[in-house]
Amino acid sequence: MLKFEHVSKVYKGGEKAVNDLSLHFKKGEFICFIGPSGCGKTTTMKMINRLIEPSSGSIYINGENILDKDPVQLRREIGYVIQQIGLFPHMTIQENIGLVLKLLKWPEEKRKARARELISLVGLTPDYLDRFPHELSGGQQQRIGILRALAADQPLILMDEPFSALDPITRDSLQEEFKKLQQKLGKTIVFVSHDMDEALKLADRIVILRDGELVQCDTPEEILRNPANEFVEEFIGKDRLVQARPNIQTVEQIMNPNPISITKDHSLLEAIQLMKERRVDALLVVDEQHVLEGFIDVEMIDQKRKKTSLVADAYETEMFTVTEGTLIRDAIRRILKRGMKYIPVVDQDR
Ligand code: ADP
Ligand code: MG
Repeated sequence: MLKFEHVSKVYKGGEKAVNDLSLHFKKGEFICFIGPSGCGKTTTMKMINRLIEPSSGSIYINGENILDKDPVQLRREIGYVIQQIGLFPHMTIQENIGLVLKLLKWPEEKRKARARELISLVGLTPDYLDRFPHELSGGQQQRIGILRALAADQPLILMDEPFSALDPITRDSLQEEFKKLQQKLGKTIVFVSHDMDEALKLADRIVILRDGELVQCDTPEEILRNPANEFVEEFIGKDRLVQARPNIQTVEQIMNPNPISITKDHSLLEAIQLMKERRVDALLVVDEQHVLEGFIDVEMIDQKRKKTSLVADAYETEMFTVTEGTLIRDAIRRILKRGMKYIPVVDQDR
């Protein structure tokens, strides 16, 4: 449905706002771009509907390069909601909702019918249709802005922080409403947020950006389970990380009983032999520093894996793989889930 191929954007005299973004989204997915202010979220959105042209790379919608489309036509085919929703003050709510339909030359009767149909979706009665924007609360105006984007039944909708200016209570209820609406309508939605809670609540997949670069693109569950690096962990927040892992085990529990220490005298090869003797399935090698900190050091493990995988192969042993930034207890959970017995190994050979 939507594909980015090595897309970059450099503003005049500026640094790269978006750097070599390659992504692929399916029809009906709810995608949330998230990252700190200035990381290139809005730039990315605007490139999709050609308000901004990429400096390099290509964007495809349904397999068609957007550069082959007329920009005005393209914008009519894509719904766009921004933070400052900007309803037209001199138009009624009905006219505001029907704006794009008018551009698409729908007859008035059909536009009216569509507006009536839509307004019920967001829990407002049809008599709101004849009101003017100033007669609505901020939250209600925001709902109308969303309906305007949905009116033409465009399959792709871009939403740039549409809820961030709302008070928390209105925001919460709108998020819920909107998620339900999306499940009903099945549109492809590209949503921008700087709020991880919002992203976790709404998205099928979350794209995390930092300084214009892709950091991680995964489902909310996977992002909580396997944050790509410390930046993501920080962005998620420690509280949420711990919440996401109900079966917390302390490092002490994990490294018991009697972890083997690998030192210069005591090699990993011996540990593997021991593993064979004890008929366990895996070694969990963690360097001492990170045992103390409760985190696994990735590079260390990766190097270890390279060094030992040949040995492991020779012994037909499964070496346990740990990805970057994985918490020990999470690694352990995976071992236990697969019913593997393991020997804890502390690497002191540093
Ligand atoms: P976000 O939406 O994630 O906050 P933006 O896409 O708006 O980030 O901006 C990304 C970077 O590009 C920022 O460093 C910003 O200052 C810069 N930028 C955005 N718009 C322009 C512009 N029109 N001209 C020059 N630089 C811009
Ligand atoms: Mg922005």
